[in-house]
Amino acid sequence: MSDQANNPPSFADQFSALRNQYTRNLGEALEDLSQRVSAHDSDIPSAVLEDAYARLHKLAGSGGTFGFHELTIQARALELTVKTWLKAERSPEPAEWQAWRAKLLSLHEAVEPAGVEGLSLPQKAPPAIKPRDHFKIVVVDDDEAIGAELRQGLSQFGYEVTSHTGFETAGPDILADPPDILVVDVMLSGHTPPEGTDAIAPLFEQLGRTLPVIFMTSRTDLQARLAAVQAGGDVFVTKPADAPTMAGHIEALLRQEEELPYKILIVDDDEPLAEHYRLALSSAGMTASKLTEPLTLLEEMHRLHPDLVLMDLHMPECSGADLAQALRYDEAWQTVPIVFLSAEEDVDLQVKAMVGGGDDFMTKPISMARLIAVVRARARRARQLTELMSQDSLTGLLKHASIKERLIQEASSAQRRGSPLAVAMVDIDLFKTVNDDWGHPMGDQVIKTLGNLLRQCLRRQDSVGRYGGEEFAAILPDCTAAAAFQKLDDIRRRFSEIRFVHQGESFGVTISVGIASSEEFPDAQGLLSAADLALYKAKRSGRNQVCVGALENAGR
Ligand code: GH3
Ligand code: MG
Ligand code: MG
Repeated sequence: MSDQANNPPSFADQFSALRNQYTRNLGEALEDLSQRVSAHDSDIPSAVLEDAYARLHKLAGSGGTFGFHELTIQARALELTVKTWLKAERSPEPAEWQAWRAKLLSLHEAVEPAGVEGLSLPQKAPPAIKPRDHFKIVVVDDDEAIGAELRQGLSQFGYEVTSHTGFETAGPDILADPPDILVVDVMLSGHTPPEGTDAIAPLFEQLGRTLPVIFMTSRTDLQARLAAVQAGGDVFVTKPADAPTMAGHIEALLRQEEELPYKILIVDDDEPLAEHYRLALSSAGMTASKLTEPLTLLEEMHRLHPDLVLMDLHMPECSGADLAQALRYDEAWQTVPIVFLSAEEDVDLQVKAMVGGGDDFMTKPISMARLIAVVRARARRARQLTELMSQDSLTGLLKHASIKERLIQEASSAQRRGSPLAVAMVDIDLFKTVNDDWGHPMGDQVIKTLGNLLRQCLRRQDSVGRYGGEEFAAILPDCTAAAAFQKLDDIRRRFSEIRFVHQGESFGVTISVGIASSEEFPDAQGLLSAADLALYKAKRSGRNQVCVGALENAGR
């Protein structure tokens, strides 16, 4: 963030511009309202009451959000009085009306210069999304052999690894070129500060931000774990930590870090308020869009596919409760979380909204911190559930049905765009003997490791799924057969060099790969059978190799 000149205005600037604009419009809105009610002295038409009610409701809902808390309180009281007249379907008595109008006319006195506490921004900057190919890992362990082993083992997974025996040298390395993940031994004997956990906090302070940390220790007691948690550790690993295990932790942490921003759709007819929520959520790293025309909701849903909908309960054209229910009629939107925002104290309407398919409720004015926390927690949970349904529990990769579905989409998209698509079937060699010789849990670890390696070595736009027990499928868009061969053969070589350790003994495992390209087989089913056939050929030809179906058919 060094180039200030070309940067868009900061969130703080945008917030204060929005608030200034709101304050300017507020004067006009109050003046307008005063004139409307002043035109009547008795026999007030219900249209006038309804209009006043809607305007006061809007003022009460937005005032507090922009820091005008007293305005919200007084407007709310005035609004409720009008509501009782409307409910009773009667015109107010002249004395009632006089008193009410006097309060309304002094409403502008409630527009005190507001404090800014409600507007303070969350500190955490949105996480930056990094390109996949160069994750840097820094290992700090006083045992040089462990550092060397992890350096060697982890580089097989495509990570760039540096290792240090203490923070005297690790510190400058981390500050000069901050890694994506830090792997630290809890106890660093002979160094100052002696404990790895003590060195982290001052380092992060110097760096101006935190990094994900994996702590290693040979101690398994609660005290050691607590020290690691208090030092801000994300993962706690018991030594000896072999490279495949460590790579699994690293991959899981990286996946967390680089999660795509949550997409939030804000539905509120009050434009400045919607803009305020949009800014608040954007400042927390989410992708928020606003919709002030509720009747275009379905089109927007299809266009944006939001992770969560934030919806005003009280809108002139239709109520949020009805809108939510209408949304739920569509099968595609049955699970998207809907969080209602409302200045409405009408319990009946709130109940109706929840019964109609709402997930949560927030009453205006809402503090920014609470808004962000609730939206983020709900969106994360919803995404986790969706992923759980389509992901394999052992590897975190797509399940059989999901990867097939993805292949059908990708194959038709490749056909449309006229670009090549490659499919690879990857199968572990003689896996039965791995299970027999080293046990089923060790077999599971080998499967997991292959999953991690595939994900780490393939590109962001590629998809990987667990196709069967020890068989994986990868889909590589915009990739020729030749390029896929290069990539998969590199993965095959890397996997064969990984050493798995079981009770002090180490062993290696190999894979066979079959590749098919849409250059030869344009549809999904053809791609799958050709890749399968190529895999079979690789197995028959002695395993630990990659075969390309398309080239084979071309006469090789
Ligand atoms: P090939 O080189 O021909 O592929 O030989 P293979 O032994 O790998 O072939 P096969 O498909 O006959 O054996 C696969 C074995 O994988 C059988 C099954 O018990 C084991 N397996 C399948 N799923 C899992 C799993 O989730 N965990 C473990 N540990 N083993 C599994
Ligand atoms: Mg096998
Ligand atoms: Mg198999």
